[in-house]
Amino acid sequence: MPAQCFLHSLQNCMDFNHTNPELHKELLKYGFNVIISRSLGIEREVPDTRNKMCLQKHYPARLPTASIVICFHNEEFHALFRTVSSVMNLTPHYFLEEIILVDDMSEVDDLKEKLDYHLETFRGKIKIIRNKKREGLIRARLIGASHASGDVLVFLDSHCEVNRVWLEPLLHAIAKDPKMVVCPLIDVIDDRTLEYKPSPVVRGAFDWNLQFKWDNVFSYEMDGPEGPTKPIRSSSDSQHILLTLNGRNSKVKPNHTAHLHPCMRDMCSRSIGQMCRTEKPKFSQSGKRAIWMCGGQLFIIPCSRVGHISKKQTRKTSAIISATIHNYLRLVHVWLDEYKEQFFLRKPGLKYVTYGNIRERVQLRKRLGCKSFQWYLDNVFPELEASVNSS
Ligand code: UDP
Ligand code: MN
Repeated sequence: MPAQCFLHSLQNCMDFNHTNPELHKELLKYGFNVIISRSLGIEREVPDTRNKMCLQKHYPARLPTASIVICFHNEEFHALFRTVSSVMNLTPHYFLEEIILVDDMSEVDDLKEKLDYHLETFRGKIKIIRNKKREGLIRARLIGASHASGDVLVFLDSHCEVNRVWLEPLLHAIAKDPKMVVCPLIDVIDDRTLEYKPSPVVRGAFDWNLQFKWDNVFSYEMDGPEGPTKPIRSSSDSQHILLTLNGRNSKVKPNHTAHLHPCMRDMCSRSIGQMCRTEKPKFSQSGKRAIWMCGGQLFIIPCSRVGHISKKQTRKTSAIISATIHNYLRLVHVWLDEYKEQFFLRKPGLKYVTYGNIRERVQLRKRLGCKSFQWYLDNVFPELEASVNSS
């Protein structure tokens, strides 16, 4: 769910107001303009939004191979298909081990035989897994990952379009440093017009409400010889698109891939987060910061661009709200140490809310020798500490 909808009023998240009732219904169902999506069809070209300096970059011919995991639940057919076709069209096939589609128990008809039929075009590169029950995003991603045979796992939402030379910079960064977890720079696909728009160079961050946000990157940070092509240290990830080593295939020492430990997956992002069964599926806002705290690194690679439709959040049931709160609380109690008070200062009503048993998580944190939240603030995200006294 988009971070901006967390705990805010439903009204803020429902500003679709169309006169066409049919369109309005579909907007509510899919979260974006389906009529335009259908008219765009199953593939299109998007503008190359990379900085010109990226065009001068060359990547080694030998890089790790990627398994691309795309989970979907009732996704609009064309948006899903454009995700797949853009990957197929813009990824060198020798780096593309496979695309693993995980149907998380969709009920929409055209995601069944019609999808299989259209995917025949890409035979050989596509695996499709159909969950027998709805697992929620993170368990679905874990299921996809368990079928992956590439060196690197790539998680994409099912309404993305990749841009030119998107994968090579990401694979190159991981090949140079296996402790890296990387994200592309996420361009915006407008939910109303589906126009593909470039994003400025930003980094992922969050505030004391644990709301994800994008922070501008200062121009002096891009002063060096690499300029705006330089990898950007990110305190948090955007959750839609993420690359990490495939722990199963990796020869790297376990603590370097700690975030891939079956029960550490909540450390990587929401995306990897809800894989842990103790979390309530789909709505966990787990601990991206734990990548850093447990010896990894999270970087945004600006020469890699991927567009994502920022869907309008349309319905928030009380079950979703309570699952979200539950998962935030677990995150706070496992990872924030004494800084949990900063969260509760802003959410006093949550201070005495129960959050289940976290013993296993705390032990895991200890076992992996993860550093303190104070270390994280000092070394990775000083901007957050500086904002202790603000609201
Ligand atoms: N998804 C899923 N199972 C679910 C809910 C979502 O597989 O129970 C998929 C969804 O189709 C999408 C991804 O998870 O590909 C992320 O969900 P969404 O885009 O709704 O989240 P947002 O980007 O709005 O945070
Ligand atoms: Mn999404």
